This record gives sequence, C-alpha cells and structure tokens, in this order.
Amino acid sequence: MKKILITIISFVSFTLLHAQKDTTQQYGVGDSTKPETFEIYSPVPPVVTPGALPQDAPSDAIILFDGKNLNAWRSNKDTTKPADWDVHDGIMTVSKKGLGDIETKQRFMDYQLHVEWREPSDIQGTSQARGNSGVFLASTNGPGGGYEIQVLDCYNNKTYTNGQTGAVYKQSIPLANACKKPGEWQYYDIIWTAPRFDNDGKLSSAARVTVIHNGVLLQNNFELKGETRYIGFPYYVAHGASPIKLQAHGDPSKPLSYRNIWVRPLD
Ligand code: MG
Repeated sequence: MKKILITIISFVSFTLLHAQKDTTQQYGVGDSTKPETFEIYSPVPPVVTPGALPQDAPSDAIILFDGKNLNAWRSNKDTTKPADWDVHDGIMTVSKKGLGDIETKQRFMDYQLHVEWREPSDIQGTSQARGNSGVFLASTNGPGGGYEIQVLDCYNNKTYTNGQTGAVYKQSIPLANACKKPGEWQYYDIIWTAPRFDNDGKLSSAARVTVIHNGVLLQNNFELKGETRYIGFPYYVAHGASPIKLQAHGDPSKPLSYRNIWVRPLD
C-alpha cells in the first residue's frame, strides 16, 4: 500500500513539475446552458508592455545583446573566458580567429528568442562555406553540441536543403527560403520548448521549435529527434537548462554580424 502511495505521489509530482502551464483551466461548475459557466477570470495573464516596434524587446525580456557589450556572453570553448567577438557600431561580429563559439552565461529552458543577423554585402563562397553561423537553442556537451538553427547566406546559394537558412540542421528542411540579400539585416523569432528527461536520463518529452525568419514561418512546432549533428543520426543526451550559443563557423568567408538579441523565458 505504502509503495503504491509513493508511486502515485512521485507520478503526480513529476507530472506537475513537467506539465506545461495549463491555460485552458477548468470551466466553472454550474448551469451548462449559461455562458458565464464557461467564462474564466483567473489566473490573469501578466501585463507585458510591447516594444515600440515589433523587433523591440518587450518589458519582460532579458536583453542578451543591446549593441554595447558582450557581458551576457562567454566563450563556449573555455567558459572561464569572456566572449571575444568584436563589438562595434552597435553590432557584434563573429571572430573567426579567436576562441570560437560564444554562449550566454545564463541558462534557459523554454523561451521566445529574437535574434538579428546580417551577412557581409560582399560575401563570397558557396554552399555551406558562405556566411555560415548558427543559433544553438541549447548548448550542450552532447553529440551535436546542442540544437542548431542554421544561419547561412542562401540568397541564390544552393546547398543541401536540410542545411539551408532556418533548417533544424540535418533534421528539418525549412518551409520556405526567406533570405534577404547579403548586406541587409534579417531576423529570427524562435519559440523553443526544451526536451525533458526523467531521473534516469531517459527522454520524457522531445524538444520542439518554431522558427520565423523575416516574418515567414520556416519551422512549425517541429519535434526534434535529438541533437543536430554534422555526421550521424540524431539522438538525445540528458541535460537541463542550458546556455544559448552562437556559432563561429570555420568556413573561410567573411564573418557575419549580430545585433538586438533578447529572450523571454516561458517556463
Ligand atoms: Mg551553422
């Protein structure tokens, strides 16, 4: 009996801990022919003041980069070292000769992320060697180093489609190619649901991602099969809240730039 009770309690606590916020709630008890039986007044959603423009951070966003410094970031290769990308004119430019990828000091689970990026107007190279970078939605020590949304110049640049701009790298072909010309600012709005693992490290719910590129839907709540890998089938390795990472890709083309990065945690 005691054993059954403990099992039930652990199941309920696990479910409560891992459940998404239930926004539907329960309908009131009462006369089901009356409209007010189906009207809910609590909980009340928090007030969030939107930015003046769609790309401006709302009042509850965490600013990851506002053009001034890389204080919210560190080196991914050596997390004791600061991020060494070049900050100038309100933007940051990838450093191809330094420590490489950068990641946020803060860790996140589920979130809404806004990122702007720009390829150099005189970008050269072909396929994956043309302004390659990437937004890793969780930086991990797993088989792919996390989950990459590809950043690449695909304006008249042919490459494998599950590696083009906005692909969940080698897992999901984007629904469209919405690339702007090199030299123009572009943006991603990304909704990320982190994967969940049980106490034994077994996957209990897969990661999901929605990606909007320049106002165009590229990934619609795609369920990831695991970390994104250069070679090999994707699989998961358990992790919790993780940094967001930006990739310094080793291709020889000119480095691209980022600006205006903010995040709204959702868990
Ligand atoms: Mg990349």
